[in-house]
Amino acid sequence: MTRQTRRPHGNAKYHLEKCRCLACRKAVRDYENNRYRAMAYGRWQPFVDAEPVRSHVRALGEFGIGWMRVARLAGVSTGAVCKLLYGDRRRNLPPTRRVRPETARKILAVQPTLDNLSDRTPIDGTGTRRRLQALVAAGWTQAELSRRMGMNRANFSRIFVGNLIEVGTAKAVSALYDQLWHIDPVTAGVPEHRAAAARLIAVSNRWAPVGAWDDDQIDDPDAWPDWTGWCGTPRGRRAHYRTRTPVCPPCRQAATQQTAA
Ligand SMILES: [Zn+2]
Ligand SMILES: [Zn+2]
Repeated sequence: MTRQTRRPHGNAKYHLEKCRCLACRKAVRDYENNRYRAMAYGRWQPFVDAEPVRSHVRALGEFGIGWMRVARLAGVSTGAVCKLLYGDRRRNLPPTRRVRPETARKILAVQPTLDNLSDRTPIDGTGTRRRLQALVAAGWTQAELSRRMGMNRANFSRIFVGNLIEVGTAKAVSALYDQLWHIDPVTAGVPEHRAAAARLIAVSNRWAPVGAWDDDQIDDPDAWPDWTGWCGTPRGRRAHYRTRTPVCPPCRQAATQQTAA
């Protein structure tokens, strides 16, 4: 797949494709401000302005989450969300101007998490690739991983080279990772020599092992793996020499800064 889809720049592109351009960053700030203000407001008013709630539903639409799905996820009637967006056409009423805080709270609570997105939605594949690479570094062969995912090898290999993947793939890899990261592949039936070959592939590609990633960083394209436990600090470079791993860019930078100081 290509680097970016034709999805317009904005909140959804920021989160799904990790675009960091000015337009996307501004859209994220606007979105967060809108949601935060709407939630704070709802705490003490009998009725709240419907506009921020409406724009939240539209923001979810940019992620491919349609308003009927929003209603279902929020546990609000589809009629209420329909009136919020389009008004009551039969009675010729304009879109709702005020909503109950309870309704607003439920709708604002719906977030574009992986679980709420459609499986076909294209997203950035950085975290998914890192999870698979870490499993290979542990000795899981790509043949075994693709077999467990029920994927043919060609489609499986594409995850490693493409920038974008589908949400369904991200979820499947995430589940596989949670299942396998703490299991020794050889005891699980991967032949010893194949596991060794997989580890070598990871070393030659500098694929980081499971232990180098924090769960809250693995999906962030700007994050670096912590190979040594000291990466990015002045002690990092020595730690690389000790563990015989190539010095990583954050450690090289930390060392340069120390020399300059
Ligand atoms: Zn952008
Ligand atoms: Zn390092």
